[in-house]
Amino acid sequence: PRVHDVVIVGGGAAGIATASSLLKRRPSLDIAIVEPATCHYYQPGWTMVGAGIFKPETTRHPMAEVMPAGVTWIRQAAAGFAPQMREVMLADGASVRYRALVVAPGLRLAWDAIPGLSETLGENGVTSNYRYDLAPYTYRLASDMRPGRALFTQPAMPIKCAGAPQKAMYLCCDIWREAGILPRMEVEFHNAGGVLFGVPTYVPALMDYVERYGIDLNFGSTLVAVDGPARIATFERKGADGRPERVERTFDMLHAVPPQTPLDVIAASPLAGPGGWIEVDPATLRHVRHEDVFALGDATDTPNAKTAAAARKQAPVVAVNVLAALDGKAPAAQYNGYGSCPLTVERGRIVLAEFGYGGALLPTFPKWMLDGTRPTRRAWFLKDRMLPPIYWYAMLRGREWLCAPEPIAAPPESGPA
Ligand code: FAD
Repeated sequence: PRVHDVVIVGGGAAGIATASSLLKRRPSLDIAIVEPATCHYYQPGWTMVGAGIFKPETTRHPMAEVMPAGVTWIRQAAAGFAPQMREVMLADGASVRYRALVVAPGLRLAWDAIPGLSETLGENGVTSNYRYDLAPYTYRLASDMRPGRALFTQPAMPIKCAGAPQKAMYLCCDIWREAGILPRMEVEFHNAGGVLFGVPTYVPALMDYVERYGIDLNFGSTLVAVDGPARIATFERKGADGRPERVERTFDMLHAVPPQTPLDVIAASPLAGPGGWIEVDPATLRHVRHEDVFALGDATDTPNAKTAAAARKQAPVVAVNVLAALDGKAPAAQYNGYGSCPLTVERGRIVLAEFGYGGALLPTFPKWMLDGTRPTRRAWFLKDRMLPPIYWYAMLRGREWLCAPEPIAAPPESGPA
């Protein structure tokens, strides 16, 4: 098999940004990207599609257009990994070899883990912003709604963009408020977890909206089955005696977010840790067992928020450390766990959560310019007008605006004995 300087598995947000970042630093590199899809999606835009603000087509570009000039695009899926041989097996049985490997194939949406859900998505009032083709249906349901019951669900963590399940809910509520039917709506949030948002700083602002919209919060309540034609959702929760009990809720609209797991090809590979995610050092993003393997994006076991914003900060770190590895040097850049979640609490206002490892607040802007803990029009402007072009024309092209990689302090030189 052919040997490339760098093989990148996955041409999503993380993979493309890393390829561009590498080429910016060393244009002569021979890079191959293994990616079976013909389209590249800007998934953060799907929340806006679900509220009728973005047109779906603006969130989808042909893969060929985002592939950086000069890379070899291998148009198939990775089917296995042999890190000892520095080899990636491909779906057609061929394989490709590398000097350094970057793994960024994202995660798996486990729609099939909820009996009845797949069959009814897109009809019977059942929708999800987690799929390109369904986000427009969310908006149609919200717009055509008559007074009734709407259920919004969130599975166990980790999920990509942990705020997205409630973003969909707030934007629907805002549509119903404007239509004058909100007081006659029963809106329920069923969250498998125990908190509204993982970083407590942002919870008060979100609770204001929960109260304003009259949302009934249910924690520890997991969607386990859907009967679309009968419009019944079944939830599992802990009963009074501590044992799990099942509760059935009828609905007029159900916005479901599927459980999210590592891809099978990753979980079954030598790259996986105990939970099936790729096991990397949280700072350098280098694999804990294979020095020439790096990973970023949704596929890793790092405890950051799984977001495109995280991938934007991770890509330059991986680029710097891959080049160091190719040169036989130690990793030189580190990632602080930055992730961001613009919580769309109403049309025109956003609570902009930005935080790193351990829940440390990492605001991009000074507080006087943009206070992320409150709903602001400036944060909405950022999400609505600025972030899509930043994604397509800066992040994916290796222009590292506000995300220069942080150097690792060199260890002190040991003096003469
Ligand atoms: P992806 O972008 O999903 O790309 C993975 C790529 O790998 C895909 O192109 C896929 O085809 C490819 N692939 C899969 N299997 C293989 C294989 N076997 N071999 C080769 N290639 C493979 N993030 C934010 O920052 N802000 C937000 O507001 C936000 N909102 C979101 C709202 C929704 C509804 C959703 C669904 C996501 C949201 N995100 C948001 C999260 C963000 O989209 C992801 O975190 C980001 O796309 C992760 O990048 P990635 O490259 O790891 O994965």
